[in-house]
Amino acid sequence: MRFSGSGLTLSATDLSRHLGCRHLTQLDLRRARGDLDRPYRHDPAVEVLQQKGLEHERGYLDHLRDRGLRVQELPDIRNLGATRQALAEGADAIAQAWLSDGRWTGIADVLLRVPGPSGLGDYHYEVVDTKLSANTKPGTLLQLCLYADLLGELQGHRPERVMVMTPGTGFEPEVYRVDHYEAYYQQVKTRLDREARAGASTYPEPCDHCSVCDWWKRCDQQRRDDDHLSLVAGITRIQRNELTGLGIETLERFRPGAAGSRPEAGTGQPRESGRRPAPGPRAARGSVKAAILRDAGGR
Ligand code: SF4
Repeated sequence: MRFSGSGLTLSATDLSRHLGCRHLTQLDLRRARGDLDRPYRHDPAVEVLQQKGLEHERGYLDHLRDRGLRVQELPDIRNLGATRQALAEGADAIAQAWLSDGRWTGIADVLLRVPGPSGLGDYHYEVVDTKLSANTKPGTLLQLCLYADLLGELQGHRPERVMVMTPGTGFEPEVYRVDHYEAYYQQVKTRLDREARAGASTYPEPCDHCSVCDWWKRCDQQRRDDDHLSLVAGITRIQRNELTGLGIETLERFRPGAAGSRPEAGTGQPRESGRRPAPGPRAARGSVKAAILRDAGGR
């Protein structure tokens, strides 16, 4: 996300990040306004993944060329005029196309030309996203729905399907119908738009995205400063909510037997297990990345 003369613009990446964590959106907003510095992060595992992602995308483009298709690669700049021109020229495939409607933006990995009427003539384009993960994530589908919307505006025809190209499939894409995800996409997009405009009161509740999040250090520090219940090993959000409902909101107040009543849900196991420290952040982050690397065929 970024502020410019025309106001705030939101990207497909913002949509995916918002789905992962609403607090992340609020931190990104503060960074975009200049209230927070961009978090510094040096993470060799992420760099390896990025490199593998680029290689996968290049491999797909080479595969298209080997099939005799004309591939037009656009420079990775925010140039809507270049995208419009490439669409009008009608290459078989367009790589790194900048898409925007003024409020929402994104860069589509690959646009593939297919037959069918549109504002361009007797053809239009569909979007292909190259991804390393063997399992397509909800955030990826939301990004693709946004690309389909933006591309629809540009070519006068909203593509009915989007595709994800994962490794090890012989470049056979997974195909998804956009209308199957329309309601979900609109719901998340509307919420992001609203919370980006009006702000939202959020807390850095631990979630799956924390393991790869730029803001992790800041959020972890806040939880420690707050003596937050998430520091209890193995505790779930439901259990934390239950404890909070009993007035137990900090580690200090979390002691075996400290609360007299039984929880309305769950087994009460965390209270009985005492105050074991949560797993170290490096361990948690490492295990998620190891899974991603396994998916990518790495080590
Ligand atoms: S570290 Fe976790 S809680 Fe904090 S912004 Fe990132 S995903 Fe959200």
